Amino acid sequence: MNIHEYQAKQLLKGYGAPVAEGVAIMKAGEAEAAARSLPGPLYVVKSQIHAGGRGKGKFKELGPDAKGGVRLAKSVEDVVRNVNEMLGNTLVTAQTGDAGKQVNRLYIEDGADIDRELYLSLLVDRSVGRVAFMVSTEGGMDIEAVAHDTPEKIHTIAIDPEAGVTAADVARINEALELAGEAAKDGEKLFPILYKAFVEKDMSLLEVNPLIVMTNGRLRVLDAKMSFDGNALFRHDDVKELRDETEEDAKEIEASKWDLAYVALDGNIGCMVNGAGLAMATMDIIKLYGKEPANFCDVGGGAGKEKVAAAFKIITADPKVEGILVNIFGGIMKCDVIAEGVVAAVQEVGLKVPLVVRLEGTNVELGKKILNESGLAITAADDLDDAAKKIVAAVNG
Ligand code: GDP
Ligand code: MG
Repeated sequence: MNIHEYQAKQLLKGYGAPVAEGVAIMKAGEAEAAARSLPGPLYVVKSQIHAGGRGKGKFKELGPDAKGGVRLAKSVEDVVRNVNEMLGNTLVTAQTGDAGKQVNRLYIEDGADIDRELYLSLLVDRSVGRVAFMVSTEGGMDIEAVAHDTPEKIHTIAIDPEAGVTAADVARINEALELAGEAAKDGEKLFPILYKAFVEKDMSLLEVNPLIVMTNGRLRVLDAKMSFDGNALFRHDDVKELRDETEEDAKEIEASKWDLAYVALDGNIGCMVNGAGLAMATMDIIKLYGKEPANFCDVGGGAGKEKVAAAFKIITADPKVEGILVNIFGGIMKCDVIAEGVVAAVQEVGLKVPLVVRLEGTNVELGKKILNESGLAITAADDLDDAAKKIVAAVNG
């Protein structure tokens, strides 16, 4: 789960990290009061969407010459002018895709005078099984380009979970970021704070790009991107509250309510499967026969009829889906339960695309019987290969 920049900064502020004062607004009428509450004379108006590259982004409605999604303003009036121009419009950045994202929230922040822009992130480095800092002096810009063109400028410092962030770790990070004096002292405080926040809140990513050295020599977190491990959200009610569902795929939200592992993809064959391994194999074999999966949907091991029906409805609600492949190996999950769920969902929402079902395992005969007697236009398949061939043929017409 992702959250907005202003929420991430609020969270980091609670841990004592240096962030600017700021006010988030959702209505243009709130802009003036928000700006007046800040010290000035420099302000920043920042689009709050779950995507990066906002500074270099373009608003669809404003044409190519208009300013981007992060704007400096030199007076309260200037803030209000920019808010009126930005709010409600659609920002297209390198990370949003062509459709862009509507900007429904703006963050008005006290502006900083910047000396240097650095890159800092925390992530789970699976190669060493540790949380690691990734840092570079080349901040503010596209870190993927830095990694590609000048990988030696990115330094990784993995943290021993027993020891936490040690003085030696801090020294290495400070050195990699070429920090000295006041800025290095700020780093001594900041790096353990970021690590603590990351671990305590079960983050999967914390990216500060840029971390800045201001002209007064001090550090400040200028941008913050935070992602949380969805499997740990149950123990963070405070984080769950920060969810902005308007930023997420509606089908994925519905799926999460049913505790379904659902990921929307770009192809046009909808898949309903049990078990992540079988889901991967199903997607692979669809590709092998020349088509692309429209989603990854794992109903899990112990799903009941209602959950199966919910999954089926989510899959059919996707207008890209031109055919559905149900591929179930009944172990704990029983084939008759799957069959009942599918039939119930089809009876409710109808079936406008070909449906191929492959069932194997516990209660398979009963499952097949339920499908056969349902009177629905379902194509039965004998095995995974047969199923993939049949759905691809059906979609290809
Ligand atoms: P992103 O484009 O989505 O990554 O948004 P950022 O929050 O990183 O802002 C983009 C750029 O705007 C930064 O790299 C800075 O160059 C600039 N910027 C943001 N805030 C300030 C500020 O307070 N003062 C100044 N001078 N520039 C800022
Ligand atoms: Mg940034």
